[in-house]
Amino acid sequence: MKNIGFKRAVKTAFFPARCPYCDIVIDPERYACADCGAGLPEIPVISYIEGGFRCVSPFLYTDCYAEAVKRFKFSGRAQYSEQLAFAVVTALNCSGDLGFDYVTCVPMHRDQKIERGYNQSELLAKDCAALLGLPYLDLLEKFKRNKIQHELKGKERRANVKGVYRTVNTDKLKGRRVLLIDDIITTGNTMRECAVTLKKGGCAEIKCAAICYVN
Ligand SMILES: [Zn+2]
Repeated sequence: MKNIGFKRAVKTAFFPARCPYCDIVIDPERYACADCGAGLPEIPVISYIEGGFRCVSPFLYTDCYAEAVKRFKFSGRAQYSEQLAFAVVTALNCSGDLGFDYVTCVPMHRDQKIERGYNQSELLAKDCAALLGLPYLDLLEKFKRNKIQHELKGKERRANVKGVYRTVNTDKLKGRRVLLIDDIITTGNTMRECAVTLKKGGCAEIKCAAICYVN
């Protein structure tokens, strides 16, 4: 094993690092296997959600990138986080979306997090913060449990997320520039609701990033 920290060595002994795009075991120092790494898209996907919030994603929700998100989210592949965070941070560097005070995530409801065992967006946001050299901070809480967003259609999705989030660490919000992280942007309703909640809490600027954008 190369020059990796003790904590990481213990983690990778139980959960070996894997290429998120094809699931093969890789050296924990790498961010993809050689084949997938060579084919990664170099131009980030930029989108704007309602309210004018800018979103940056390394990938569209297609092919191996969609499969990576599904395994990260639903198949217990929490260890993809570091590799996927590298892709997100690379996209942010390419698009020039830098200069944040904090990194935060779209939170899960407490019960939902207990059921899944982890919030993939939180793992991703913490790894993005580490790569960017910025503090991670919980700024939002999902205090109402709602229906599963991807099982709903159109207008139902928007109504479903309305008023389910509130700010925490409220003394840390005023005038701050925040990078808000989620795993995927589908309609943008969840991101928008979280971004608006942060804005109402006093944040000066909110930008969003996710692994995949669904177009
Ligand atoms: Zn691969």
